Amino acid sequence: MNRVEIMGVPIDAVDMPKAVDQAVAFFQQENLQVIYTPNTEIVMAAQQDPILLDAIKAANLVIPDGIGLIYASKILNKGLKERVTGVDLMGEVLSYCNQHGKSIYILGGKPGIAEVACKNIQIKFPEICISGFNDGYFQENETAAVIEKINQSNVDILFVGLGAPKQEKWIFQYRDKLKAKIAMGVGGGVDIWAGTVKRAPEVYQKLGLEWFYRLLKEPWRYKRMMSLPKFMIKVLFSKK
Ligand code: UDP
Repeated sequence: MNRVEIMGVPIDAVDMPKAVDQAVAFFQQENLQVIYTPNTEIVMAAQQDPILLDAIKAANLVIPDGIGLIYASKILNKGLKERVTGVDLMGEVLSYCNQHGKSIYILGGKPGIAEVACKNIQIKFPEICISGFNDGYFQENETAAVIEKINQSNVDILFVGLGAPKQEKWIFQYRDKLKAKIAMGVGGGVDIWAGTVKRAPEVYQKLGLEWFYRLLKEPWRYKRMMSLPKFMIKVLFSKK
């Protein structure tokens, strides 16, 4: 696999079929394999956050989930070809789990959301084994119990939707304690499967304007999203 660096943050130059092949191979590994799906916001956050950067460096698959990363790669000649979104990869992995009777656990989202997401996943993928779910608003002192519940469930793949960068750091901190084949950070993917958040219509996705749709729907995110133009300016200056 070709791993490139965008502003010091490692990203794998994969397209969707390669990412799926890699994820499938992870089910055969002994130790927990970690998948992250950073966008430009996370790459910017990692500039100021050494733990986040260490977490991403230690991951086994890091897919480019942001159109800004693809633009940056084009400008800097880094070799990332296309955007591979975490939500799409999650869908592909779920389809694999359905075909091979693998089990999933969803950790994240407001109380009740992970359960609805699991129900919807089960309707679409009846052969998937739902090992369990837990909301993402547990307290620090409940972490050991949450991990115990996950470990007792004998799960193959754990989807962690605690929001970024919390989920990346959480997985990094507990990766030696988690008993699963794969842990994947999925951000708002849990809400999308629960139906509480809608994905941008395909036309926005195709034009690379999903971020713009999100800004229209969730205008309060504009502060966080200011990292995108800042990122592009940084990329252009680093080129010079
Ligand atoms: N979330 C969570 N626990 C937290 C903070 C957030 O489970 O302590 C969930 C939140 O409910 C949402 C998801 O994380 O389902 C994504 O949050 P956000 O929109 O902040 O992150 P992004 O989608 O940008 O990664």
